[in-house]
Amino acid sequence: MAGVPLSPPARDRLRADCASCTGLCCVAPAFARSADFALDKPAGRPCPHLAADARCGIHDRLRERGMPGCDVFDCFGAGQQTVQVTFGGRDWRGEPALARAQFAAFDTQRALHELLWYLEDALARPAAAALHGEARALRDRVAGLTGGTPAELAGVDVPALRAAAGPLLGRVAERVRGGRGPDRRGADLAGRDLRRTPLRAAGLRGALLLGADLRGADLREADLLGADLRGADLRGADLTGALFLTRPQVTAAGGDAATRLPDGLEHPGHWR
Ligand code: SF4
Repeated sequence: MAGVPLSPPARDRLRADCASCTGLCCVAPAFARSADFALDKPAGRPCPHLAADARCGIHDRLRERGMPGCDVFDCFGAGQQTVQVTFGGRDWRGEPALARAQFAAFDTQRALHELLWYLEDALARPAAAALHGEARALRDRVAGLTGGTPAELAGVDVPALRAAAGPLLGRVAERVRGGRGPDRRGADLAGRDLRRTPLRAAGLRGALLLGADLRGADLREADLLGADLRGADLRGADLTGALFLTRPQVTAAGGDAATRLPDGLEHPGHWR
């Protein structure tokens, strides 16, 4: 099966545009010193590496500086939506009184944008055409919510939206997988050598693939929604048409020039 294209407008809307944001992801969340972050930072405090122009001062060496968690993070376009649309270009730096509401709105926007990523993926699957009406209705509802005011966003019930999307995405995956591939949903496959395991069209939703050896694996049309791919070795693997794969999942894994990804996802810089 050829790669599954997301429509360009959808893909563009769900891509971070840091130049139109004000470093929200570098201020709003808390960091705990760990393998992902070299420092502790409470929520709402700017990272010490955040420069005055709202750009990262160590952007080109995040991994060398012990901040791979920043490399993996993706806002799905929530940053620019929060600053430019929700707050009409106003931001926490110029108006500190906005900070709390802006950071809260960013959290909600990110959750909504991530849902949109999955729903756009579902809508790009011809095999799930019978479900497109339902997916489009939910996509439009979620997209409408991203245009809300700060107060409206504060009232969004994200868990309820996820609860609505989950079963629908599951049915989409069933149609795309077409009864092929093993069902390993939620399986603990951490550290496992899966190079010879048949995984084409596998159900790997929520699977723990931390550090798994997936070199050369055939993961075409596999459902990878929420699968933990941190440290997984995807060198030479084929993920063409894999369902619900995100940039954070890909960036958290290892791969190389031979790794094939679904359309709409690029090889992370650290794979080169
Ligand atoms: S290290 Fe850079 S990307 Fe990470 S939080 Fe700090 S400023 Fe942002």
